[in-house]
Amino acid sequence: MHFIDTTSALAFDRNHLWHPYTSMSQPLPVYPVVAASGCELQLADGRLLVDGMSSWWASIHGYNVAELNAAIHEQLGQMSHVMFGGITHPPAVALGQRLRALLPPALECIFLADTGSVAVEVAVKMALQYWQGAGQPQRHKLLALRRGYHGDTCGAMALCDPETGMHSLFAGVLPNHYFAPAPQCRFDGPYDGSDFAAFKAEFLAHEHELAAVILEPIVQGAGGMRLYHPQYLADVAALCRDHEVLLIADEIATGFGRSGKLLACDHAGVVPDILCLGKALTGGYLTLAATITSRHVAETISQSAAGVFMHGPTFMGNPLACAVACASIDLLLASPWQQRVAAIEAGLRAGLEPCRQLPGVAEVRVLGAIGVVEMSEPVDVATLQRQFVELGVWIRPFGRLIYLMPPFVIRPDQLACLCGAVVTVLTPEA
Ligand SMILES: *Cc1c(COP(=O)(O)O)cnc(C)c1O
Repeated sequence: MHFIDTTSALAFDRNHLWHPYTSMSQPLPVYPVVAASGCELQLADGRLLVDGMSSWWASIHGYNVAELNAAIHEQLGQMSHVMFGGITHPPAVALGQRLRALLPPALECIFLADTGSVAVEVAVKMALQYWQGAGQPQRHKLLALRRGYHGDTCGAMALCDPETGMHSLFAGVLPNHYFAPAPQCRFDGPYDGSDFAAFKAEFLAHEHELAAVILEPIVQGAGGMRLYHPQYLADVAALCRDHEVLLIADEIATGFGRSGKLLACDHAGVVPDILCLGKALTGGYLTLAATITSRHVAETISQSAAGVFMHGPTFMGNPLACAVACASIDLLLASPWQQRVAAIEAGLRAGLEPCRQLPGVAEVRVLGAIGVVEMSEPVDVATLQRQFVELGVWIRPFGRLIYLMPPFVIRPDQLACLCGAVVTVLTPEA
């Protein structure tokens, strides 16, 4: 599909189409993209932009990937969708088998949700129904971390950072959960235990009400692109285990290698009770997510009054999405992804290093295929976006953060171009 007239298409968009977190009356500019291939987005006027975002963590293999296209074409010839109630189909079974082979053996029971936020809602409902089944329905609160992000639906939003999240806007509507301070320890810094002490105090204060702890392992993504120490995660997991509180790991952003390990939990050798996957699950092709738990949790849920797990989206287990997820996992595992992510990490470290000397830069941090330049003040998104496009790169800052998370297949020269663009826009004009 093409724009017949780009100017009128942009005018229509401005008047009628909502974009993420955008005002309908004062929208920020949008850029018309008509195609994408490899690690480049193509604008309507033909310009190519090197992609620094992987379309929000998702497009790990880049765009227009032959293997992923083929998987969708083949499935399309069989069926694009069929209800999952009372029916199963080859792509769902094949995806389930791949996830079983990929994930820790204890994570046995798979719920195929349709978006990341829904996967979080499903995880929360699993935890609540688990305690109903275990005869302790008073355990109906979650403990989350400040600066966390878990999605935009009401249940997920209630677990996002209470200040930078949307709590104040929806106060009175959202369920009240508990929040521990955001960990301050850095991923690669010394570990002093005071973060965990603060977490433990909050945990023990509410222990008898807690159904689960939910966190983003190692990388707090949309809540601030913060990277914390693996020992903190290990200590939290051990505390949950000792007190028999469920641990929900939201790996929707970090799953499938982004942090250098297949799962961010692997940095700490932690296996959660409930795991949420999404974003890169389909290589960024279609919307699909998964919530995966242990046999014990699943069986306890089945002992609850409901007798069943109470969730079932219309597009659950969509065959097209499952087929492309299988192809994406196969492609990832057949690729030297660890070396690729390690090379991106080295490239980001070297390429973003000059930013440390630039005015307004508070911190530069890198882990795996994630590079973050944190500024002291919020950036002017529209201006920076325009400068980046003029430099031939697609980088979308938010708040005080300019960050890169390119597809794993990015070439060294393309990565250098992304980093160079960040350095250029932050360098004061002489
Ligand atoms: C993106 C994200 C979600 C929400 O996923 P959607 O598909 O946007 O609903 C939840 N948790 C984390 C950690 C995420 O990065």
